[in-house]
Amino acid sequence: MAAKFDFNGRRVLVTGAGAGIGRGICKALYESGAEVYGVSRTQENLNSLKVECPDLVTVCVDLSDWDATRAALSLLPTMHGVVNNAAIAINGSCLTAKPEDFDKMYTGNVKQVLNVSQIFALKMIQDKIRGAIVNISSQASQAALKDHVLYCGTKGALDIMSKVMGLELGEHGIRVNCVNPTVVLTSMGKLAWSDPAKAGPMLDKIPLGRFAEIDDVVSGVLFLLSDQAALINAVTLPIDGGFLAT
Ligand code: NAP
Repeated sequence: MAAKFDFNGRRVLVTGAGAGIGRGICKALYESGAEVYGVSRTQENLNSLKVECPDLVTVCVDLSDWDATRAALSLLPTMHGVVNNAAIAINGSCLTAKPEDFDKMYTGNVKQVLNVSQIFALKMIQDKIRGAIVNISSQASQAALKDHVLYCGTKGALDIMSKVMGLELGEHGIRVNCVNPTVVLTSMGKLAWSDPAKAGPMLDKIPLGRFAEIDDVVSGVLFLLSDQAALINAVTLPIDGGFLAT
C-alpha cells in the first residue's frame, strides 16, 4: 500500500501510464484526488486503465517521436506535476551494442524526457505554477550492471539532466527530482532479472534483502510531487533497500 497524499485540485501527467510502475503511479494519484493525464504508446493498455480510473484523461502517442509528442501534448492544460516514467530497455554487452539500439535507447529514455519536460515547464512558468517534475531513473544510473551498457548510460544521463533542470527551473519555483529504484518485477524488470542465476547475486547486494514493489516506487514519487517535499530539488532518491550504499 503506497503512502496517502492529498492531490485534490492538482493536475498531474504521467508517461508510460499503460503498464508497470507508471500505471501504479496513475492509480495512486487518481485515488489521491488528482486530475490525472496518462500518456502511453499502446491504446489497449490505456483503455484498461480507463476502466479502472474512469475520469483519467488518456493520450496515446509514441514519445520517441518528438513532433508527434509536441502535437499531442501541447494542447493539454498546464500541469502541477509531471512524472517522466516511460522508458525502454535493450540489454547486452558493450562489445556488441548496436548503433541503432544506442539511438533508440537515448531517444526513448532521455530525449523524450527533455521534450515532455520542456512542454510542461514552459506552461508552468507561463501560468506561474510552482510545479514538480519527477523523473524515474534507476539504481543503474549510479552502479555498473553487467550487460546494461545502454540502460546504465541513459539513466546516468537522465540523473544529470534532471539536476541541470532543477538548477535552471528552481528560480521559477519548479522542482525537478529523480527516483532511482532497484529491480521491480514488471515486464521490464522480468526481462533482465527473472533468471534466478542473475536475481540471486543482485538480491545478495541489497541490504534489505528484496526487490522493490511498485508501491515502494509510487510512495517516493508521490512524496516528491507533494508539498511535503517543498525544499527538495535536484536530488536522486534511491529506492533500493541500500544497494547503492554497498
Ligand atoms: P514497463 O513495465 O515496460 O512499462 C513501461 C511503460 O512505458 C509501458 O506502458 C510502455 O508502453 C510505456 N512506454 C515505453 N516507451 C514509450 C514510448 N516511447 N512512448 C510511450 N510510452 C512508452 O516498465 P517499468 O518497469 O514499469 O518501468 C517504468 C520506469 O521505471 C522506467 O523509466 C524504467 O527505466 C524504470 N525502472 C524500472 C525498473 C524495473 O526493474 N522494472 C527498475 C528501475 C527503474 P506500452 O504500453 O506500449 O508497453
